[in-house]
Amino acid sequence: MNATVMNEPIDFAMIKQSVPIEWLLDHYGLTSHLRRSRDGFRGVCPIHGGHNPTQFCVSVVRNCWVCFGDCNTGGSVLDFVSRMEKVNLREAAQLIQQWFGVEAAIGVTSRSERVGQSSRAAVEVPKAEPNSPLGFVLRDLDATHPYLELRGLLPEAIAAFRVGYCAKGLMAGRIAIPVHNTAGQLVAYAGRWPGNPPEDKPKYLFPRGLRKSLELFNYHRALVPEPHTALVVVEGFFDCMKVWQAGFQRVVAIMGSSLSDTQEQLIVDAVGPGGKVKLMFDEDGAGRAGREKAAIRLARHIQVEVIELEVEGTQPDYLPAPEIIALLADADGRVAT
Ligand SMILES: [Zn+2]
Repeated sequence: MNATVMNEPIDFAMIKQSVPIEWLLDHYGLTSHLRRSRDGFRGVCPIHGGHNPTQFCVSVVRNCWVCFGDCNTGGSVLDFVSRMEKVNLREAAQLIQQWFGVEAAIGVTSRSERVGQSSRAAVEVPKAEPNSPLGFVLRDLDATHPYLELRGLLPEAIAAFRVGYCAKGLMAGRIAIPVHNTAGQLVAYAGRWPGNPPEDKPKYLFPRGLRKSLELFNYHRALVPEPHTALVVVEGFFDCMKVWQAGFQRVVAIMGSSLSDTQEQLIVDAVGPGGKVKLMFDEDGAGRAGREKAAIRLARHIQVEVIELEVEGTQPDYLPAPEIIALLADADGRVAT
C-alpha cells in the first residue's frame, strides 16, 4: 500500500453498512463450507480453525459474525477481514474497497474516524429522514456495455448520467444508474438487469432503505437550464435519459408511475408560479392511471400538458429522438429546451 492510499480518509461506517458479509464469505470461498442457520450461517471458524461446526456464526440480518471458540470475539465485516488477513481496521477497509470496488466519495469522508462506534445507530434510520448521501462511488463502471447501446443511449448521455455496467460490487451484474438527491448528492445506485432478468431476479434493484418517493431522478441537473421552459416528467430512468439526449435537459423521472407528495412539491418548486410541466408517461394501464392522478394534483398549482403516446404499450424511451422532439415541441413548433 502506498503513502497516498494510507492518507485517504476512510468512511468505516459506510463500509460496514454497505458491504454485506455474504460478499466476504463468497470472497473467501466459505459459503459452501458453512451451514445455513436461522438468520445466516454457522460452521467451523475460518479464523482460528478447529473442528467445531457450531462455533462460528454469521448473522446476515445484522451483518456481523461471532466466534464462540478460541477467537471468542466477533464484529463487523471490517473486523472479519482484519482477523482473516491479520491487518488493522484501516488496512481491512482498504482491502474491502479494492475487492468490491467501493471508494470514498470526495467531500463526504470527513466524518470517517468518529463513526467507528456509532455505526449501529446509523443503520436504523427513522422513516421521515431524508436519504443520506452514499459516501462512496462505484469505480470501473463499463460505459461501453452493449446493453446501453441496445437501449439507444448515446455516449454523451452515458457520460452525463454516469451509467455503466458494474462487474463487481454493489450492483454486480447490472447497469448501475446513479441517483442523486435534490442537492445533487449521490444517494443510491439503481441496478438495471441488462436484458430480461431471470424469474428470481428483479428488473431493477434498489438499495434497501432508499426512499424513492423523496427524490426525482435528474432533478439537480434539470433545474439548471432555462428555468422558464417546461419541465418534462417521465416515469423511468431510460425515458429520462432518452428525452435528455433528444435535447430536453429539463426532464425528471419519478422512478415509478405514481407521483409522491414530495415529488409533487419538488416539481411545483422547480417550475415556479405560472410554470408548466409536460407529463409523458408510459402508454399502458399503470402509466395512464399515474398520469391522470399526477395531472390532477399538479394542475392545482401549475400548468399541465399531458402527452399521450400513439401506440398502446409504448414508453418514451422506445421512441426515436425526432418523435420525442415532435411530441414535446411547443405548439408554435419551438423546441422547449
Ligand atoms: Zn474462531
